[in-house]
Amino acid sequence: MASVQIHDVRKSFGGFEVLHGVTVPIEDGEFVVLVGPSGCGKSTLLRMLAGLEKITAGTISIGERVVNDVQPKERDIAMVFQNYALYPHMTVAQNMGFSLKLRGADQKTIDSKVRRAADILDLGKLLDRYPRQLSGGQRQRVAMGRAIVRDPQVFLFDEPLSNLDAKLRVAMRTEIKELHQRLKTTTVYVTHDQIEAMTMADKIVVMQDGIVEQIGAPLDLYDRPDNKFVAGFIGSPAMNFLDGTLKVNGGQPYVETASGARLPITAAPGNGNGRPVSYGIRPEHLDFAGSGIAAEVVVVEPTGSETQIVARVGDQEVIAVFRERHPVAPGDLIHLQPRADVAHLFDKESGRRI
Ligand code: ATP
Repeated sequence: MASVQIHDVRKSFGGFEVLHGVTVPIEDGEFVVLVGPSGCGKSTLLRMLAGLEKITAGTISIGERVVNDVQPKERDIAMVFQNYALYPHMTVAQNMGFSLKLRGADQKTIDSKVRRAADILDLGKLLDRYPRQLSGGQRQRVAMGRAIVRDPQVFLFDEPLSNLDAKLRVAMRTEIKELHQRLKTTTVYVTHDQIEAMTMADKIVVMQDGIVEQIGAPLDLYDRPDNKFVAGFIGSPAMNFLDGTLKVNGGQPYVETASGARLPITAAPGNGNGRPVSYGIRPEHLDFAGSGIAAEVVVVEPTGSETQIVARVGDQEVIAVFRERHPVAPGDLIHLQPRADVAHLFDKESGRRI
């Protein structure tokens, strides 16, 4: 196992810079998830960790060693890809043992390491099958088995669950997390799925357009996002944003929207009266109340365990989520009470947290 240091790393393709100085410290044994929208540069960063892509500037270290110029096979990492990349003409056992064979290990050692990985992943009965005789989830497990057999210092995962159906994704998510708890191998995992990031990570790195927006523990990012981008990206359904003006006239501060709705906050900067802000409130922090902000119901979406209501506040829309069921229909006028203690304030221009 090893720590990984990504320091001020840049990457250009043909003179066009796609990573603009990325710094990510990763501790020994940590499970770190790189997350961000398509094209933000997360796969490129992972490929640079693996040595599959050259670094334009900056340094990457694994353990004590700077690996900028170290060949992929010398880095002591194992990567699991989205498409699994299994050899179709080899059995499960041969696929899993192949890297050891390349390294010149004897058959007895290979068999025992393959057997151990197969036990961990519950693949014991499938060792003689070929990839085409496996389900998507089983193939995914074989790809992980192949990584485990190498006993690397670091695991890299590139969207490993995106080819699986929704139910299997959830099951495999738990399996990968359990695997990490068991092996404690330093892991860097790329996904664009924020739920995967939230549920699996010790630490999330949120990226956008080639920069790191914020690094933190999942619930810290959820509770205290540094900016509107992170606030809107982490959480599902996403945080609501209502534009308004800060009112701090000595009494209890609030945010007033253009339609006159008063949005409660607990504290605000003293000199901010009249400042344009974006008021952030998560869907589960809007209470169904007799008073509060007036809203017109647009859509009601029951999922069974909860109900989502899309409602209009002036010319802006919000989503509210309730555990209990409310007998409302499109067109109804309701009142939603934002919980002031968990409301977020962002600067309207910069999007930064106030
Ligand atoms: P996705 O979730 O869609 O895989 P990503 O966040 O992993 O996206 P990257 O694949 O790292 O994004 O791509 C980052 C940027 O670099 C994109 O603008 C992409 O077009 C560009 N890029 C990636 N690889 C190359 C390449 N080989 N040549 C030129 N541009 C590239």
